[in-house]
Amino acid sequence: KPAAVTKILKRIESDKVKFIRLQFTDIQGQPKNVSIPAIQAEKALTEGIWFDGSSIEGFARVEESDMILKPDVATYAVLPWRQAEAKVARFICDIQTYGNKPFDGDPRYTLHKAIAEAAKMGFTFNTGPELEFFLFRMFNGLPTTEFEDHGDYFDLAPTDSAEDVRRDVVLALSDMGFEIEASHHEVADSQHEIDFKYGDALTTADRVITFKFATKSIALQYGLHASFMAKPIAGIAGSGMHTHGSLSKNGKNAFYDPNAELQLSDTAMYYIGGILKHARAITRLANPTINSYKRLVPGYEAPCYISWSAANRTALVRVPAARGNSTRAEFRSPDPMCNPYLTFAAMLAAGLDGIKNKIMPPEMTNSNIYHMDEKTRKKNKIEMLPGSLMESNAALVKDDVLCKILGEHVVSNLTRIAEMETESFNLAVHPWELDRYLATY
Ligand code: GLU
Ligand code: MG
Ligand code: MG
Repeated sequence: KPAAVTKILKRIESDKVKFIRLQFTDIQGQPKNVSIPAIQAEKALTEGIWFDGSSIEGFARVEESDMILKPDVATYAVLPWRQAEAKVARFICDIQTYGNKPFDGDPRYTLHKAIAEAAKMGFTFNTGPELEFFLFRMFNGLPTTEFEDHGDYFDLAPTDSAEDVRRDVVLALSDMGFEIEASHHEVADSQHEIDFKYGDALTTADRVITFKFATKSIALQYGLHASFMAKPIAGIAGSGMHTHGSLSKNGKNAFYDPNAELQLSDTAMYYIGGILKHARAITRLANPTINSYKRLVPGYEAPCYISWSAANRTALVRVPAARGNSTRAEFRSPDPMCNPYLTFAAMLAAGLDGIKNKIMPPEMTNSNIYHMDEKTRKKNKIEMLPGSLMESNAALVKDDVLCKILGEHVVSNLTRIAEMETESFNLAVHPWELDRYLATY
């Protein structure tokens, strides 16, 4: 038994854990888990636990569906909101298939690959996501789109249970080792944001998943539904997952250069150049549903054009004012429906391509692009982000750099999902059509 395993088994015992959840994520970013009694922990940690991957979205065909869950010991955490009953802990797992080969459809593996590529160049990729979400009332056990509060941006007390939910989420996540930086009411009614400290991309992707299910579990204790849908209600702000990204080398921020223009190093400029070059393809990962594209429209602080800026919040990439060790680029298109493993892997692969090929970003756009007419945009060569899932999928399929890091298995499954979703959406008769036509025709 390796020492790390012995150590964690002792921890499980002293924490009086009764059940262990082995957690992983499907291609759509949905967390999945199997629960095992604590006595099975040793087996799980040494041999792994076999499961049938054929019913998991984007996983395997039935003919070769046996997979092993390999717990990552570094991800051990007791789930604080399950204290009252038998104690539950979880591990996030890597997935292997026959012959202990990493499974191509495991999104965590995709991110491992991108991180290894960065490591070859001496870089560590750090990400800091800002997750926004709505708290909706429930009716008969089902979520509605009814608001729980009518607070506004940075409002002090939404005067209801929303504030308690936010506090409990912050406490639970802190127990699980998150360093929470801020939590606040967002612009829309019932919309909130909780920010935690950036970290290496793998830890942070794990945390995004944990964040979402912790928030959902705690909201439910208050009879509320926490929704990470990108645009649950038309005409008001949607929810984003802006992701701050930076590279470090030998423990030092590689984006900072005190002597350069804007104090941004060549590495920073090329990273931004790479992100912008691959932006249309990254969109397939960062904005993975039909609904995601309803958020990427002008007027709600979400990006729709491919541009960058040192200030303006309508740009796709914004460089916040902080420098030194905090130098970073905020990529504003991702929404919280995204699979964080695939999204971070795509951002990193794009950034590294920028660095390898010295891709300079075009000139900054410092004015509000929402107000720019088409002619000016054309003159400044400002392209649009894809307007639909099929459009971003087409951009992905054409993008060799991203296809290479994702692999054939992931790309073909993403394509199949985009086609299925689009067909199902197109066949549906939507409430809008009934509103518009039923009474008149
Ligand atoms: N809710 C906005 C979005 O969809 C972002 C608001 C903000 O800048 O925090 O991206
Ligand atoms: Mg925000
Ligand atoms: Mg932001």
